[in-house]
Amino acid sequence: MNTLDTRQLKDMFLFVAQRVVESEDFLTEIDLKLGDGDHGFGMALGFKAVQEALKDKEFETVENLFQEVGMTLLDTMGGASGVLFGTMFISGIVGLEPHKEADLALLAGIYRRSLEALKRRGKAQVGDKTMVDAFEPAVVGLEEAAAENADLPAGLAMGAECAKKGMEHTRDCVAKFGRAKSYGTKALGLQDAGATSVWIIFQAMSDWASE
Ligand code: ADP
Ligand code: MG
Ligand code: MG
Repeated sequence: MNTLDTRQLKDMFLFVAQRVVESEDFLTEIDLKLGDGDHGFGMALGFKAVQEALKDKEFETVENLFQEVGMTLLDTMGGASGVLFGTMFISGIVGLEPHKEADLALLAGIYRRSLEALKRRGKAQVGDKTMVDAFEPAVVGLEEAAAENADLPAGLAMGAECAKKGMEHTRDCVAKFGRAKSYGTKALGLQDAGATSVWIIFQAMSDWASE
């Protein structure tokens, strides 16, 4: 498999949404240790709405789908992380010519642009113990796989693996943003909730593609 049409891409996003919804308690537990414990609820709320928004609709283009996912998250999650996770899906498609199919290079390009928008908006860099710590390596993984002409399942597996390493690395970092910042070095050993969500999203895309 090297390209996804919009039906397959929709199917993939529905699979991702289901995984996020199922991860609510896990994410809550992580955000309780370093934050206020609302991350699991917010993500589940947003991705339940994504399931509703996608399931009975047909999408003309890849960009329409990303737009729908991102706008739904933005509208339903609320708060800072609604903007951040909305950005993860909306910002990468701004100004793109419409595509009927997505290959690894297109996905890598979309997520690269989203990542840059997210970093501009949130001001976080790798090492600040945020979702950027999982997102940036995931994007680099997709880009490297695309440059090597990997097929889609292999490329998405690479993205997921890199996201996981990035998420795990947040345990070694002190937070510069959000409530976790006030924990200082007490945050060492604990992983970031947003980075965990990013890993869940990339892992689900990979698992969907390998099935
Ligand atoms: P809140 O912190 O408002 O309770 P959530 O718990 O839903 O929102 O999300 C917290 C996550 O948001 C953090 O774990 C972190 O990954 C991410 N985050 C917070 N601030 C930033 C930022 N400035 N840039 C990128 N990600 C951020
Ligand atoms: Mg929180
Ligand atoms: Mg909160």
